[in-house]
Amino acid sequence: MNFNTKLGVVLDQVELNPYIYSFETLDNIYLYLPYKQTLASFSKEEWARIKSLNVESNIAKALGEKKIYVEQGYSENFIELYKKQIGSPSLRIVYIISTDACNFNCRYCFIENNFNTQNRSTAKVDEVIKWVDYALANSNDELRFIFYGGEPLLNKELVLNAINHINEQRQKYHKSIAISINTNGSIYSDEFADTFKKSRVNLSISLDGPKELNDKGRVTKIGDSAFDLAFENIWKYIDKGVNVSLSITITKYNINFLPQIARWIVDTFKGKINGVGFNPPMESEFGNPITVEDFKLVMLQIYNAFRIFKKYGIYEDRVMRRLNAIIDERPHLKDCAGVGNQIVIAADGKIGPCQAFIGSGRYFKDIAPEEYNFKSDETILEWNSITPVNKEECKKCPFILICGNGCPYYASLKDGTIHGLDRRYCEMLPIMMNEILKDNFYGKIKAIFLDYDDTLMLRGNLGEVLDEVAKIFGIVYKIDYKKFMEENAGYLNVRDFFVANGVSEAEINKVIVAYIKAFKKGSRLNTWLIEQLKKINLPTFILTNNSERMVIDELRENRVEGYFAGVFGNSLYKKPSKEFYEHVFKTTGYRPEEILYIGDSMRDLLPIYNFGCRVALLSPKDENYTQILENEWLVDLCQ
Ligand code: SF4
Ligand code: SF4
Repeated sequence: MNFNTKLGVVLDQVELNPYIYSFETLDNIYLYLPYKQTLASFSKEEWARIKSLNVESNIAKALGEKKIYVEQGYSENFIELYKKQIGSPSLRIVYIISTDACNFNCRYCFIENNFNTQNRSTAKVDEVIKWVDYALANSNDELRFIFYGGEPLLNKELVLNAINHINEQRQKYHKSIAISINTNGSIYSDEFADTFKKSRVNLSISLDGPKELNDKGRVTKIGDSAFDLAFENIWKYIDKGVNVSLSITITKYNINFLPQIARWIVDTFKGKINGVGFNPPMESEFGNPITVEDFKLVMLQIYNAFRIFKKYGIYEDRVMRRLNAIIDERPHLKDCAGVGNQIVIAADGKIGPCQAFIGSGRYFKDIAPEEYNFKSDETILEWNSITPVNKEECKKCPFILICGNGCPYYASLKDGTIHGLDRRYCEMLPIMMNEILKDNFYGKIKAIFLDYDDTLMLRGNLGEVLDEVAKIFGIVYKIDYKKFMEENAGYLNVRDFFVANGVSEAEINKVIVAYIKAFKKGSRLNTWLIEQLKKINLPTFILTNNSERMVIDELRENRVEGYFAGVFGNSLYKKPSKEFYEHVFKTTGYRPEEILYIGDSMRDLLPIYNFGCRVALLSPKDENYTQILENEWLVDLCQ
């Protein structure tokens, strides 16, 4: 790269790296660029000069070394460079489906729900052992066997024989050989426990939170509680010295409580759990009745839970896979081993790249190990080519070297082809990167900004309150409140609402007084939150669309006004306008980098999130809310 050192300006052929991803706060800009997985931050002033290529030559040189400045046409060569790194298929994971039958009926299961027949298969020991030998002889330095199903432990003979066989072969092969079992946790035996301990098996047990949440999605066939079965057996295996980790699938029931679940796991299993992994919502070909559509929310929740797990030394796989790539400054081109690093031995003996296609049989073939060649298998070769650097839509994406592509099966469901995009990751990656940048550059949280209605003050039913007032004043709705909120970015300004419904200027103040009375009548203070704020012990400001006076009166009535450093109501600006938050930052003197904002919905969190604040979702009015999760997760997020 050339710089004109005499004039101190950058030559024409240099430009800002087109792969830079950034977000800004009031004062600073934080950026990620895929070259060596670089994270950086600049003041906005510095950044304005950098962007206009108006910097001194020595700084330009340093920016060139960091690839913040690049030569024009950089992106073409850049993609080609990483295409070369993809290489040929290399076997490192073997899924053994010991049976495709299951004793559970989990509502979201994309394996069981993909079968359009009741017929199920059970793997045969001698056939599987031949494939184990094939894998041992044809894998690279690291090989992991994963027993999967259905419920793999239903086929005891296969699991025990295959594990014993793998153990016997360990001495013969100079490679790292690991064994995992993904189970619903319903089956325990001393024989299993002894074998798992001896063979250093990682037992990954599915548990989607405490009983109240877990059992809404995870359902046994005979009507027992899935939680009770798994919970008891988790402890039995732990007590026997088996390595246990937890697999948490995200559903519409637990999505609002992932950080709480993280702290619940910390408190419940007290350091005995090896690691955890979050599974973003997945679908079968027939859908998923309890899925979550908002993947920004999914990632925000995963990340806050990750922060808690990290604090207590518990490894969370979903975030760590990317974070490790950043730490090692290496590209993460493939997140799923199915794309050229894995075979699945189905229970009927067929071979394919991905367990999600077992039900449909697509990509699976009937072949004997003696005739099989993993590296030249056409299906494996096709899957091996799946990575963002080979995709037109990903070519300009800043996350091309960290995304890892997501799940080709999911892409095939949504785009009709395994070569399509797993758009869940397109939504999740910017959120994950924002949070990684915050953890890297922000200091400690210095103040709390807090939503009021339904976060600190839990209200009664809004529709009923409005109806009560409408009845008193004989108001006939021209527009109902849900429609009104829809048309007003999800917010209800009561004055505007009643005016829109024909209340005159002369009447409106009386109507509002009646509304406030009815509104307050059905309300109760979130006392758990007050207790947490006491423990957090940071200046706390309330941000609300109510009037300051009403909120202060209510805090006084509840004798908690002393816990708050200030209330920002609707007198000057209203949420979610930019001016509202700018006014709060200016008046309090806190910068977005120093704030944790606590609110009850994504609609409430996102406007201040866009200023670069850290945020926490607290949904005490969610119908799945359970007091079991009233733990110290918020305190963790503030430390
Ligand atoms: S394609 Fe999806 S379901 Fe299949 S192995 Fe990869 S991540 Fe898993
Ligand atoms: S799948 Fe989406 S996030 Fe991932 S590299 Fe492609 S465009 Fe970017």
